[in-house]
Amino acid sequence: MAAQRDYYEVLGVSRDAAPDVIKKAFKKLAIKFHPDRNPGDDAAVESFKEASQAYDVLSNEEKRARYNRFGHEGVRGAAGGGGGFQDVNDIFDVFGDLFEGFGFGGGKRRGGGRRPVQGESIKTRVSIDLLEAAKGCTKPVTFERQEHCETCAGSGAAPGTTPDKCDYCGGAGHVVQSQGFFRMQTSCPACRGEGSVVREKCGDCRGSGRKSISVTRDANIPAGVDTGMHLVLRGVGEPGQHGGPAGDVYVEVTVAEHPLFRREGLDLICDVPISYTQAALGADIEVPCLEGKTQHHVYPGTQPGEIVRIRGGGMPDPRGGRPGDLLLRIVLEVPKKINAEQEAVLRDLAKLEHAAVSPHRSSFFDKLKDWFVPDETD
Ligand SMILES: [Zn+2]
Ligand SMILES: [Zn+2]
Repeated sequence: MAAQRDYYEVLGVSRDAAPDVIKKAFKKLAIKFHPDRNPGDDAAVESFKEASQAYDVLSNEEKRARYNRFGHEGVRGAAGGGGGFQDVNDIFDVFGDLFEGFGFGGGKRRGGGRRPVQGESIKTRVSIDLLEAAKGCTKPVTFERQEHCETCAGSGAAPGTTPDKCDYCGGAGHVVQSQGFFRMQTSCPACRGEGSVVREKCGDCRGSGRKSISVTRDANIPAGVDTGMHLVLRGVGEPGQHGGPAGDVYVEVTVAEHPLFRREGLDLICDVPISYTQAALGADIEVPCLEGKTQHHVYPGTQPGEIVRIRGGGMPDPRGGRPGDLLLRIVLEVPKKINAEQEAVLRDLAKLEHAAVSPHRSSFFDKLKDWFVPDETD
């Protein structure tokens, strides 16, 4: 954590400044760094928090005295003291009165639970096949979402009735508790910050003001997407509260297995079976590719397990990089059955190669057995 600046320095006032001078100095800074005036400016938010923190301490006689004696250590742990404000909304909660008449939203945001809240995010899934993943596609995505109940217009109160003002907080939505020197403002526990309570509930939504509906949206799936990747549909999730924006929808993509291609990153691997004669003599064969099929020349003497790399024949890179390769893995296919003519030719070949083929091969297995049987003389 960076060293904390001196609070008098932050507000630009002398150590013996009068309370109204301190207040004036803070107002000036608060207007300058107000989040409504500096949207998206994190540095301004930090300055706003820093000034508020300084003002929180220096505007309170007790806290100021402790700060003068002990420095930041003396006011650590206080709301907005040494610990600092985590959230600008906490500042509005504590200093809301000060902001009234500034012409900013700050005063309105006072009141705990009624600040704008972004809606929740929703998770859903979509399944596509490998060719769709390779080309990119548009797919309808369906998910459940809460919407305002039309019967009660989202109020939760039965038609013809209106929600009553909350007795507990008098409709403010927040309650103030005193703890020692500090005022703590919290959301009203009775109405959860709404400021109102529903006595007669709407029958259609049972008082929630919302109901679940099924929504379908088209998702644009970029080319090259892989299983486990997420797409985000912005602003179509759960509706926000008190004017806050709607949440997002996260779509998890599953790419179905393909009968011919196995994917490894951006590369596609495909087993290509060829026969002994094709491997030995060479051949022109047809191989599958994403576009359908292509011709490939197998050189004489091709070995089983050999990998033929076709550059750029794999998946496109969803991040715009170089596409993957198509890797053809040569698999030697041995026929399970052969006819008499084939057998005769193969036996001739075996003779040429001086290979010990069946039935002679049984003697080899006999020898193997002898090898493993324990010596009887033991
Ligand atoms: Zn309703
Ligand atoms: Zn209340």
